[in-house]
Amino acid sequence: MIPDGQLLIRLKNAYGERTEEIVRGFGVRRKSTLRANTLKASDEEIAFALSEAGIAYERIGSAFAVDPDHETRVRALPEYANGSLYMQNPSSMIPPLVLGAKAGENILDMCAAPGGKTSQIAALTGNGAFITACEKDRIRAKRLKHNLTLLGVRRVNVMLTDSSKLDPAMKFDRILLDAPCTGSGTVAPRSPGKYSEKLLAGCVRAQRALIKRAVTLLKKGGTLVYSTCSLLPEENEEAAAYAVTLGAETEKIDLRPERARLLCCGTRGALLIAPDEYYEGFFVAKFVVG
Ligand code: SAM
Repeated sequence: MIPDGQLLIRLKNAYGERTEEIVRGFGVRRKSTLRANTLKASDEEIAFALSEAGIAYERIGSAFAVDPDHETRVRALPEYANGSLYMQNPSSMIPPLVLGAKAGENILDMCAAPGGKTSQIAALTGNGAFITACEKDRIRAKRLKHNLTLLGVRRVNVMLTDSSKLDPAMKFDRILLDAPCTGSGTVAPRSPGKYSEKLLAGCVRAQRALIKRAVTLLKKGGTLVYSTCSLLPEENEEAAAYAVTLGAETEKIDLRPERARLLCCGTRGALLIAPDEYYEGFFVAKFVVG
C-alpha cells in the first residue's frame, strides 16, 4: 500500500529508511479490534461471548483482536447491539489510559465524537468522573450522544461547540485533546485516506488553536493528553513543542503498549506507534501545565 505521493515524501523526510517499515504496516490487513465496555460487561464476559459465537480472538492489552473477515459476526452479537463491547483500535485505547482520570475529577474531552475515548474514560473511572464531551460537528455530536447512552455513560455533558472557543473561565483537572488530523497513520488497503497539503495545513491550524485553549482550561498542575492518528511531525512533535512554548511541560509516558512497534520520536517521553496488523499509526503526548 503506497500512500499518496506528497504524504510519502513527508514520511521519507521524517523517517528515512524506516519509511519502508511504515509503508509495509499500511499494506497489511489490520485485525478488527474491540474492547469490553466495562460499564456493562467484563473482559471475561466478552471473551465468553466471542468463544460461544466461534469467533477466535487474540488479546492485545485490553483489546480483543479478531480476523477482519469476522467483523460482521462481531457486529451481529447482542453484546455489540447493547453496548457491552465497542469496536476500537488499540492505538486509540492508549490516550484514556495515559490520561489517568480519577473518580470525582472534572474531565474535558475536547474532540469527542464518536465517543470511543469518552466512554473509555467513563469506564476507567466507573462512571465516577464528571466529563464534558465536546464536538463541533452537529451530526457527529448526535452520534456521540447516541453512543454514550448506549454504552451506559453517566455524569457526562455533551456540548455541541468549537472547543477552541470554550470559555477560559471553565477549569478542568484533566483534558484529552484527541485532535482532528490528517489520519496519515491509518492508511490501509481499503481506506487509502485523503491526504493533501491543504488538509495538513488546516489540521495544523486547528490543532494549534485547540492546544492554546486547552492550556488555559486546565487547573494548575492539571494534565493534558494530546493525541493524533497521524505520523507527521507537523501534527505531533511540532504540536507538542508548541504546547511547551505555552508553558506546558512534557511528562514521560510509562505505558508500553503490548506488541506495539515504536518509532523514534522527537518528543521525549511521548509514544509514536508504527502501523502494523494490530495498531494504527498513532501519537500520544502527555503534559502537565503548571
Ligand atoms: N476522540 C474521538 C473518539 O475516540 O471517538 C475521535 C475524535 S476525531 C479524531 C476528532 C473529532 O473532533 C471529530 O469528530 C471532529 O468533528 C471534531 N472536531 C474537530 N475540530 C473540533 C473543534 N474545534 N471543537 C470540537 N470538536 C472538533
